[in-house]
Amino acid sequence: MLLLLNTYPLMVSEDLVFRSKETTLQSNVSVIVYSLSGLDQLTEENVAAAMAVVEEASLSRVLVTNGMGRILYDTRETGGAIGEYGLYTEIVQALLGNDAFTCTYGRGAFRSRASSPVLYRNQIIGAVYVYEYDTEQAALLAGLQGNLLRLSAVIALVVAVLSLLLSKVLTRKIGLLLTAIRQVRAGAYSHRADIRGTDEIAQIAQEFNSLTDRLQTTESARRRFVSDASHELKTPLAAIRLLTDSILQTEDIDPAITREFVSDIGQEAERLARITEDLLRLTQLDSGAMGKPELVDVLPVLEQVMRMMNLVAQEKGVELTYDAAEGCTVLAAKDEIHQVIYNLVDNAVKYSAGGAVQVSLRWHSEQVVLEVADNGAGIPEEDLPRIFQRFYRVDKARSRAAGGTGLGLSIVQDTMEKRGGTVEAANRPGGGAVFTARWPYARGGELS
Ligand code: ADP
Repeated sequence: MLLLLNTYPLMVSEDLVFRSKETTLQSNVSVIVYSLSGLDQLTEENVAAAMAVVEEASLSRVLVTNGMGRILYDTRETGGAIGEYGLYTEIVQALLGNDAFTCTYGRGAFRSRASSPVLYRNQIIGAVYVYEYDTEQAALLAGLQGNLLRLSAVIALVVAVLSLLLSKVLTRKIGLLLTAIRQVRAGAYSHRADIRGTDEIAQIAQEFNSLTDRLQTTESARRRFVSDASHELKTPLAAIRLLTDSILQTEDIDPAITREFVSDIGQEAERLARITEDLLRLTQLDSGAMGKPELVDVLPVLEQVMRMMNLVAQEKGVELTYDAAEGCTVLAAKDEIHQVIYNLVDNAVKYSAGGAVQVSLRWHSEQVVLEVADNGAGIPEEDLPRIFQRFYRVDKARSRAAGGTGLGLSIVQDTMEKRGGTVEAANRPGGGAVFTARWPYARGGELS
C-alpha cells in the first residue's frame, strides 16, 4: 500500500505535466512555424528577421534549421550552434515531415523538446526545434514526493507500533495457555489458564479449563476407584491368608475346624471372583464395548430373573411378586437387561429380609419402566445421591455379609446410560426403597 501511495500519485502527476508540456511546446513551435511561413527558402537573415517578432521568453532554446539540418538560428548567445548541423532526433524527425515531442524528468527538472517541419508549397525547407528546461514544476513534484514519503513514514511507524502491541498481547496470552497446558501435562490437574476476554484465545483457554475440570474429576475418580478396588480385593485375600496360616500353624488341628476354615476360604474366593467379575463388567462398560443393540422384549427376561430369584427370596422369607405388561420392547442386549433386573431385585431381596418385594413392568409415553419396590429399611436420604457410586455402601458390614460388592448399582447405572436410559432410587412413603429404571421404548415389528 505504501509503495502504491509513493508511486501512483507521482506517476499521474508526471504524466499530467508531460501532457501540458506537449501542448504548450507544440503551440510554441506552431507560432514559430507560422511566422516562417511564406518564406520560399530559409536563410540566416530572413529567419533572424522573422524570429525578431516572435515571443519565446519561456523557452530555453530555439533552433531553426534549413532543409539539410544546418542551423540557421539559435537563441543561445554563448556557444550558439549557427552553421553546424543539428542532428537531434527531433530535428531529424521534423526534416522527415513529422511533428516530434519528447519530455524527460530527472535531476530536478523537466526537459521537453518539440519540433515541426517548415513547409513551402508542401516542400520541407527547414525545421523548428524548441527546448524547455523547467525546474519549477519539478520542484513542485519533488515537494509532493517528500510529503508522501513523510506520510508513509508516519503510517509505517503507527502500523509497526500497533502490530508490536497486538502481537505482544497475543503472545502473552498464548504463553499463558502454553504454561497451563504444560503444567497439566506434568500432572498438576488443579492448574487453570487465567486468560480473560472474549477473543478466540480466551475461548480456547475456557475450553481448556473445562477440559481440565473433566480430567481432574476423571483422574480423582480413577484414583479413588483403584484404591477402593485394591482395598476390596485386599480384604478377602487377607482373610484367606489368615485362614491358611491358622490351618498350617495349628498342630493336630481338628478336621471339623479345618473343614470350616476351608469352606470360609472357599467363600472368600467366591467373593473375589464376584468382585473381579463386576470389575471386568465395569471396565467393559467404561471402554464402551457394548454388544450390538437388538430389539428385546423385557417380559421374558423379567420372568427368567423371577424364576431364579424365587428360591433365594423364599430362603430369606421375602415375598416376591411381579406385575408386567406385554409389549415392553427396548433396543439393548438380552444379558444386559438380565443384569439390570437381577441386580435391582437381588438388592431388594437382600435388604428387605422378611418383607415383600414388588416388581412392575410397564410402558408409557415412549418409555419402558421397570419398578422394583421393597418394604425394607430404605436408604438414608443423605446416601441416596451416592449409592450409584462405585463401591459405595450405606452399611458396609451388612452389604459384605449379604455378599455384596458395592458395584451392582454402578453397573446398573452405566448399563442404562449406555442405552439412553436412566435409573433412580427413592424411598417409599410407607418405608422401603424403590428403584425405577427407564429405557427408551422401541417399537418393534415381529420379534425374533
Ligand atoms: P451391594 O453389592 O453392596 O449391594 P450395590 O451397588 O448393589 O452394592 O448397592 C449399593 C448400596 O446401596 C448397598 O450397599 C446398599 O447399602 C444400598 N442399597 C441398594 N439397594 C438397596 C435397597 N433395595 N434397600 C436398601 N438399600 C439398598
